[in-house]
Amino acid sequence: MTSSDAMKKGRLFIISAPSGAGKTTLGKAILKRFPEMLYSISHTTRPPRTDEENGVDYFFISKDEFKKNIKDGKWLEWAKVHDNYYGTSLEFIDRNLSEGRNILLDIDVSGARQVLSHLPHSVAIFILPPSFETLRQRLESRGTESPETIAKRLKNAEVEIAQKHLYQHHVINDSLNEAIERISLIIKSHMFRNRKDTTQTRR
Ligand code: ADP
Ligand code: 5GP
Repeated sequence: MTSSDAMKKGRLFIISAPSGAGKTTLGKAILKRFPEMLYSISHTTRPPRTDEENGVDYFFISKDEFKKNIKDGKWLEWAKVHDNYYGTSLEFIDRNLSEGRNILLDIDVSGARQVLSHLPHSVAIFILPPSFETLRQRLESRGTESPETIAKRLKNAEVEIAQKHLYQHHVINDSLNEAIERISLIIKSHMFRNRKDTTQTRR
């Protein structure tokens, strides 16, 4: 991992949340507000949902390919979430940070932990649902998962929420517009800080 000029480096903005808390919805709104910000399209072994497109929402790849990339050191971070593998391309992140781009990552808590250990000046934002019951309702009304998968995601939500202290910022997604405002303010407050403190990716 190299980057000759730390001054030119962009910043990573990580958003994590229990499944169904609204990070996809919020992430899309944030990218509209900050059109110059890049979205890190993750790779996953999960099958696409009906409205998802390869290369837009995710790169959908096989387990064999994913595991080969682990061996070859191609992930900045990776995790097994709800029985599927998810990973962030190291090459994509390093190249774009070196070029000074700001990048939004939608990754789970374990991924955030890995990124923060390599790039400790990344900005980590945890999205919370207003209540556990609302989380259940949002997952059910999204209608993309089976009842078994929803149960698994709710169980995992408790584990993830228990680790929210890893994140500098916590935002409750109750009113969508208010959550978008709060996240935008957080991003703006970090975007214009001196980037000299952004460390190089260490791997
Ligand atoms: P995640 O990406 O965290 O799994 P989604 O963004 O897919 O969550 O949101 C889950 C469901 O909740 C979607 O149907 C979405 O439209 C809805 N939703 C998201 N934010 C809100 C909100 N603030 N109020 C009501 N519904 C919301
Ligand atoms: P979903 O299957 O609902 O799209 O995502 C499930 C979980 O995987 C979410 O918590 C999401 O943030 C996480 N996730 C998506 N992409 C990545 C990634 O590249 N790395 C990690 N660690 N988690 C990811």
